[in-house]
Amino acid sequence: MSSVTKQARAVAINPTRACAPMGAMLAAFGVHGAITINHGSQGCATYPRHQMARHFREPIEVATTSLTEKTTVYGGKSNLLAALKNIWERFQPTMIMVCSTCLSETIGDDIPAIIDEFLDKNPEVDIPIISVKTPSYVGTHTTGFDNFLKEVALRLPARRAKNDAGNGKVNLVPGWVNPGDVRELKAMLREMGVDTIWLTDYEETLDGGYYEPRPHLPRGGTSVAELRDSSRSLATIALQRYIGGEAAKVYQQRHSVPSHILPMPIGLANTDKLLDTLSQVTGKPIPAAVQVDRARLLDALVDTHMFTTGLRVALYGDPDLLEGLTRLVAEMGMQPAFVLTAADNGPWGNTMLALAEELGVECEILMKADLHELHKRIKANPVDLLLGHSKGKFISDAEDIPLIRVGFPVEDRFGYHRRAIVGYNGATYLVDEITNAVFARRATAVVSNTLLEVGVEGPTDVPMGCGCGGG
Ligand code: SF4
Repeated sequence: MSSVTKQARAVAINPTRACAPMGAMLAAFGVHGAITINHGSQGCATYPRHQMARHFREPIEVATTSLTEKTTVYGGKSNLLAALKNIWERFQPTMIMVCSTCLSETIGDDIPAIIDEFLDKNPEVDIPIISVKTPSYVGTHTTGFDNFLKEVALRLPARRAKNDAGNGKVNLVPGWVNPGDVRELKAMLREMGVDTIWLTDYEETLDGGYYEPRPHLPRGGTSVAELRDSSRSLATIALQRYIGGEAAKVYQQRHSVPSHILPMPIGLANTDKLLDTLSQVTGKPIPAAVQVDRARLLDALVDTHMFTTGLRVALYGDPDLLEGLTRLVAEMGMQPAFVLTAADNGPWGNTMLALAEELGVECEILMKADLHELHKRIKANPVDLLLGHSKGKFISDAEDIPLIRVGFPVEDRFGYHRRAIVGYNGATYLVDEITNAVFARRATAVVSNTLLEVGVEGPTDVPMGCGCGGG
């Protein structure tokens, strides 16, 4: 029987979480011409910049109010006023997002009031300046991203006129994904002929090209005008329950834009759900090219099932990602033995229990937990594969278990931010990666007792895949 466990130890060892401002900063990169001011010490801006640059391999430009000992005692108002003026005069951004930090929240700076004072003193400033609360002692990096989206949904969309016919578009909230994922989603929507407003879109801003001269503001991103227009859309579809789900509800409550909150579209069934929802909202059929991608994924699942069925997997990362990955590994016939997140998220725990029951798998779901806890579990009950970000490398090395890199951050490999794991093509990529990791192990040694038990560990001179009957 599956269970939900919360880590009892208070101190985190090898945590899987990052700090909350990072999420808001990442989301702000998806708005064209937006600049972030991180209201805190220099380290509160440097650490997220460093982490994001290692994952996205792009310069991460973020301003900081550089709070010091003096401002910690007397408040950071003067620093924030100066930062707002500098950013406005030097960069002429389209939007400014001010995120708080542990430090400015503990001081108690009233950021919205400081922004109002700045706007009163500088009436020529005609761009939105939003404040996002991101103390890192409340939630994780995903909370910061979610809070940003909620704030955008509350502050930016224009009031809809009576009898307005709408813009015929769909608001799509992808959540914490990679630029490659956004690209894959865009390809599906383009094929289907669906006009979209992205909340938000860092496909190009965080995976751009080399241009001379360098553009003043990075190319790409959702424009502020589109965000203002998003109250006139047909529907809002959030692709992650805990990053963007609340923003979707705001659209429904404030602007009567129906909200659809879906599981992250990883794997066959979850991608089916997304396409069915899009078809229902827009009245457009699922195009033939997308159905071909689906058939190809199904074929890959059939072709690989004899190598993956029965393998025990440990998964770790963000709640929405784990929900999607758990379904995919079950579609591959694998057993999700441990599913671990740093978030303290009761509803997610219940969703995962229900999912485990629906899939007929038995797993331990760990919340508010770290990778040290996962390592202990794996030592006691070994697994065949690890799925998660680069921080799990230490377990992979120590226990000699293949690690399939997925999630954030992936800092010890190049180009993973360009790959998609969502949609049918993203799932096919994951099926290939996972199966190849199994093959790589098989070439050197017995993969695992599990493989032996299910009888797929044959002599190495038997060509893999022969006689399987699939495609
Ligand atoms: S002090 Fe808080 S906001 Fe700043 S880097 Fe540390 S965890 Fe993040």
